[in-house]
Amino acid sequence: MPEGDTVWHTAKRLREALAGRVLTRSDFRVPRYATTDLTGRQVTESLSRGKHLLTRVEGGVTVHTHLKMEGRWLVRPAAAAVPQAHQVRLVLANDTWQAAGYQLGVVEVLPTAREADVVGHLGPDLLGPDWDASEAVRRLMASPQRPAGEAFLDQSNLAGVGNVYKCELLFLRGIHPWRPVGEIRDLPAAVDLARRLLDANKDRTGHITTGVQIRGQQHWVYGRAGRRCRRCGTVVRRDEGAGQGGDPEGRITFWCPACQK
Ligand SMILES: [Zn+2]
Repeated sequence: MPEGDTVWHTAKRLREALAGRVLTRSDFRVPRYATTDLTGRQVTESLSRGKHLLTRVEGGVTVHTHLKMEGRWLVRPAAAAVPQAHQVRLVLANDTWQAAGYQLGVVEVLPTAREADVVGHLGPDLLGPDWDASEAVRRLMASPQRPAGEAFLDQSNLAGVGNVYKCELLFLRGIHPWRPVGEIRDLPAAVDLARRLLDANKDRTGHITTGVQIRGQQHWVYGRAGRRCRRCGTVVRRDEGAGQGGDPEGRITFWCPACQK
């Protein structure tokens, strides 16, 4: 599951390749939009809202995509062969670049004026121009009994945290993943840290939280079950997600039982 910083970076690459240029190819490989044709229209903008991607096209049309679990966009020179892989859901191209969306969890076309239908439920966007930390805190506190890990993953509270950052920011703040969010002593600091972690990683591959770029040393607890906590030496634990609000994606929680209370 891509994190918000990955989606932000993807939007930036799509914007650099597509915005301001006229589409010479729009190839929707999803049944519902098989006949949709946007060629001849200029792309005006490509941006992220939380983990959603919005590509706006002349004429008040928005292409909404979401990477979900395995999705990714690849940008290649326009002269490259058009990808035929069955995982490709959408190809948008101009005279210079072609962008192919692989394994996208969502592909839909809607009026730009109705973007709120697909992103209006989101909380403040951690990497958005209108980021509002106090509103994120307010939303988190609206359900004070929810486990912290579950609350931070809920995109309607704040948008952009995925499982890696959930685990890492709770470790860094010493918060047990199942502690009720209303009991967190300094919730604004945790929210602020979420933003700083995504912001620090938005222009690079990977989600480094330790400050160490070396592979295998980039995280405090994420992916480290059974190994010793870098801070205290206690064995890092993992849970298959059953306790995190029945997360539909079955994501795994990692934490240090000594450092996180
Ligand atoms: Zn520890």
